[in-house]
Amino acid sequence: MRKTDIKPLGLYIHIPFCASKCAYCDFYSFVPQDEEIQRHYVSALQLQMEDFAGDCRGYAVDSVFIGGGTPTVLPPKLLHRVIDAVWRNFSLTDDVEITLEANPATVDLKGLKKLHRAGISRLSMGLQSAHARELTALGRIHTREDFERSFSDARDAGFDNINIDLMYGIPQQTAASFLKSLDVAALLRPEHLSVYGLKIEEGTPFWTMRDTLPLPDEDEEYTMYMQCVEHLAMRGYEQYEISNFAQPGFRCRHNLKYWTCGEYLGLGAAAHSDFGGARFGAVRDIHTYIDGLELVGQGDTVWAEHAAISEEERKSEFVMLGLRLREGISCREFTARFGDSLDEFCGRRLQAYVPDGFVTFDGDRYAFTPKGMYVSNYILSSVLPMEYAE
Ligand code: SF4
Repeated sequence: MRKTDIKPLGLYIHIPFCASKCAYCDFYSFVPQDEEIQRHYVSALQLQMEDFAGDCRGYAVDSVFIGGGTPTVLPPKLLHRVIDAVWRNFSLTDDVEITLEANPATVDLKGLKKLHRAGISRLSMGLQSAHARELTALGRIHTREDFERSFSDARDAGFDNINIDLMYGIPQQTAASFLKSLDVAALLRPEHLSVYGLKIEEGTPFWTMRDTLPLPDEDEEYTMYMQCVEHLAMRGYEQYEISNFAQPGFRCRHNLKYWTCGEYLGLGAAAHSDFGGARFGAVRDIHTYIDGLELVGQGDTVWAEHAAISEEERKSEFVMLGLRLREGISCREFTARFGDSLDEFCGRRLQAYVPDGFVTFDGDRYAFTPKGMYVSNYILSSVLPMEYAE
């Protein structure tokens, strides 16, 4: 195979275990009863990686994201089995980015040093808020001090690429308390910050309490978002995506694959893939997943969905995902990919948002301004074909 035939690929590995369940979280994760289920899950993951190893010849994996859940809840020997299986089954590029989600209070210096030696090059750590009251409201099990200790341990262990997750829109949060959290995080000088607005998802404890939660109102949330963009810019962080900010050279390669319609393979229960021209996702049920791989032995029963993607859907995705990025989308690139005009598809409708400063257009690229990003869902629903607007 010639070098130019090799395609880039991202791997996502889902670890569905947490030390406790946060009140807002609808990710597929739970508190494991014992180590037995974790051992079986890791064995099933190894089998699934072996299953896909053949299909992935012809691909060079340049990003791996081990997320969840909280991967560092796995006993260290099991987590290292997962990492070893990645190295064994896939062809990884020399500069591969391997991210591990590692929550404070689930890692120590010795463990972090071992993870660094095993090839983990990037850590993603959830702070969410620097205030005890807000952390308690979210159901987080760590304190700000736990976080600062873990962050300092990560630096001592050699990690020079760390992301911190923060949230705005938390119950009882004010613009001032959010700013303080932002300062606490920025002062640690992480290379990357992800700042997401809290969403009240169906099926979570917050959903049950939704009518009584003391949430900030829309104006306050908007203030927090704009504060975030301005304050992080002043501290040298470039907003490269709606919710993501990075020092120069530290954009998250793995997440960029999602926003630029790159190929990725998801492994594990509830993991999604866009691979080989099809979209597929595994069941949100650890037992079906494990039995499918361990007992049936070929993994075909683990899929909850499997679909080819139509050209129209690809076009909508190109617009929806590409506009999440600060650079936005290029008319020339759209035509090169699809042979169609972006202006015909949705550009003319996007033009309507230029005069009021929500969208910019430089003759080739459409992009959201920060205030456009804040209302991007609304704008997208008004410019895309109805069936793909969500
Ligand atoms: S630690 Fe993360 S994945 Fe686990 S329950 Fe909390 S938010 Fe969800």
